[in-house]
Amino acid sequence: MRDLLPAGVKLQGDGGIAFVIAGPSGAGKSSVISALLSRDPKLAFSVSATTRPPRPDEVHGRDYYFLSEEEFDRLVATGALLEWTVYQGHRYGTPRSEVVDRLARGLDVVLNVEVHGARAIRNAGLGFPVVLIFLVPPSWEELVRRVRGRGTEDEEALAERLRIAREELQHIPEFDYLVVNDELGKAVARVEAIIQAERMRILRCG
Ligand code: ADP
Ligand code: 5GP
Repeated sequence: MRDLLPAGVKLQGDGGIAFVIAGPSGAGKSSVISALLSRDPKLAFSVSATTRPPRPDEVHGRDYYFLSEEEFDRLVATGALLEWTVYQGHRYGTPRSEVVDRLARGLDVVLNVEVHGARAIRNAGLGFPVVLIFLVPPSWEELVRRVRGRGTEDEEALAERLRIAREELQHIPEFDYLVVNDELGKAVARVEAIIQAERMRILRCG
């Protein structure tokens, strides 16, 4: 195909792209991302650092780097985090190495962050395209059902997550795409369509 292109034409997919997936707790971010990663070898997951304790099925280094407060302090002090935030009393941050090194090698990186993190990644001056995708469940009632059904929070923590969720929805206008996660397979296909389209974007250089 390359022999057909005029000089100077490149596709966005020739280099790395950062796909940031945000959305309220229970939207299905982790579920969608894990399906995407299993189907697309060009995608790498940015494993965040957190001081939150692991859930029963979570693995250190795969889902998060589970750190002590002191270990997290050290990452902040050494400038190792691209951005970080406090969510429900715990700190969460994106290690620079998880994103920058992979993008530079031409991989696409998928990030699971809350709305302020999404904005910070966009404004970080990475020098690579950043695509912001907001994931929502089909209704508020379904969001509540899913967070409760996951069984990872007590009632107090659940109520706080729902309060944060209401706030997060207000940030939808800052995003590039809105994807509804009604059926998981359909939501994964929708995000894959975005990824494919972004890779096919024509860049005009020179
Ligand atoms: P998030 O990472 O956005 O907080 P999760 O991926 O943990 O969300 O999903 C929250 C809960 O909802 C999990 O128990 C998950 O299995 C379930 N879930 C995710 N997507 C769907 C879906 N399309 N239909 C029904 N349940 C879903
Ligand atoms: P959870 O505890 O459900 O895994 O995550 C809580 C929230 O923190 C989610 O909205 C998730 O997207 C967000 N989050 C996870 N990692 C990061 C990160 O590195 N930076 C930011 N800003 N948010 C994160």
